[in-house]
Amino acid sequence: MLTVLNPATGVTIAELPADTPDSVAAKYRAALSAQASWAARPLDERLACIRRFRQGIVGELDKLAAILTSEVGKPIRQSRNELNGLLGRLDFFLEAAAPTLAACTVFDADGMLERITHEPLGVIANISAWNYPYFVGANVFVPALVAGNAVLYKPSEYATLTGLEIGNLLHTAGVPQDVFQVIVGAADAGSALLEQPIDGVFFTGSYATGTRIARVVGPRMIRLQLELGGKDPSYVCDDVDVATAAASLADGAMYNTGQSCCAVERIYVHERIHDAFVDAFVSEVKGLRIGDPTDESSYIGPLTRAAQIDVLEAQVADAKARGAILRTGGRRLGPPGNWFEPTVFSHVNHDMALMREESFGPIIGIQQVAGDEEAVRLMNDTEYGLTAGVYAKDARRAERILSRVNAGSVYWNCCDRVSPRLPWSGVKHSGIGLTLSTYGIETFTRPKAWHLRSP
Ligand code: NAD
Repeated sequence: MLTVLNPATGVTIAELPADTPDSVAAKYRAALSAQASWAARPLDERLACIRRFRQGIVGELDKLAAILTSEVGKPIRQSRNELNGLLGRLDFFLEAAAPTLAACTVFDADGMLERITHEPLGVIANISAWNYPYFVGANVFVPALVAGNAVLYKPSEYATLTGLEIGNLLHTAGVPQDVFQVIVGAADAGSALLEQPIDGVFFTGSYATGTRIARVVGPRMIRLQLELGGKDPSYVCDDVDVATAAASLADGAMYNTGQSCCAVERIYVHERIHDAFVDAFVSEVKGLRIGDPTDESSYIGPLTRAAQIDVLEAQVADAKARGAILRTGGRRLGPPGNWFEPTVFSHVNHDMALMREESFGPIIGIQQVAGDEEAVRLMNDTEYGLTAGVYAKDARRAERILSRVNAGSVYWNCCDRVSPRLPWSGVKHSGIGLTLSTYGIETFTRPKAWHLRSP
């Protein structure tokens, strides 16, 4: 059985039968026999299912948001934001799929024709995270289904009710039961899924789990994508409007209670404006309302996983011991529930775990720098490379800095942002492969080369 807890209260909200190795194997066999006829349907039919899935989301948006909030603890307005954001992603896939998946002729002369078609991979595993289950799930299963794959979707054990809702919505929209199946369970269910002779693994989660999966899957020479964590930096130059930058970065650090893969996790500030920025930033953070995630006015909710509180407490203790100055927060709240105060440190450095290890919570360190050179060096001083940002008035200065930062996505005067039109990827421990954009549709296919000589 899988127990689902409400992270705001610690109360059990569901007990679900979990998959076993045998049931996972049976789901794989069913997916394998269903995949070819799904792939053989015209693309328009598969797209029509996604269009109806979109309508289903719209029709049940409030109910789905309430379920998400109940199991993940996401403040209700942010749950609705995620669902509304999903609609834009679906629109992108609906528009971009046909041109991206169309066969193309690349040579046609002297009786010789060369064509490329985009073949589905087959049956793929989609092992997912809980922090944005609609976003990170749909980034995979929507283009995978559209491209003709069958999907075995393992939602995180912390977002299983949402995963089951996604399954129901897709089936109601016309995706055959066996073409999209939900695997219920935690790490053992994920491992059982990887035992199957699947044709691709698309994982979103932590670096630690990603390395385990890479070890298991690597030798099998199948498509492997790992979308992992980050320790995303932002640098505030001395020519900015301090209040505007502070407000934007406080949101980027604390939205979703800091539990975003692209949350701002490190801030560097030019020495000329450092003190003013810290004051403005701390006052923004102090203004964020912590409370019951079902309350419309709450901005900070509980952490989804109780264990993360230990990580945050250890980072706080380490930062204090190494001389950082605690500006606000720093303590757990409760029990009941997994609550932690929004926390800001200044006078931090890279000896501190707070500036090196993913925090994945409402905590941030602000470090003063002498100028752009030092900022670039510190932004790149990380094992991760998901996103990085610069706040500056001068566009050319920002571009010069961002071009030297080693990250999958870079931001000028914004942060914690994902666009369906742009590829979402990371370097170093932030993973391999990508989702979103037309590349994130192609990635669920393999190009087949046709050499056709007329008789
Ligand atoms: P996690 O690694 O704990 O779990 C992810 C998934 O893997 C879950 O479904 C889990 O049940 C499963 N799993 C765990 N052990 C497994 C095993 N041995 N074999 C197969 N499956 C296994 O991560 P999480 O706590 O769910 O998510 C948080 C992490 O995800 C953070 O590091 C965050 O930065 C990252 N993340 C990255 C992105 C991105 O786009 N790069 C997006 C969201 C989250």
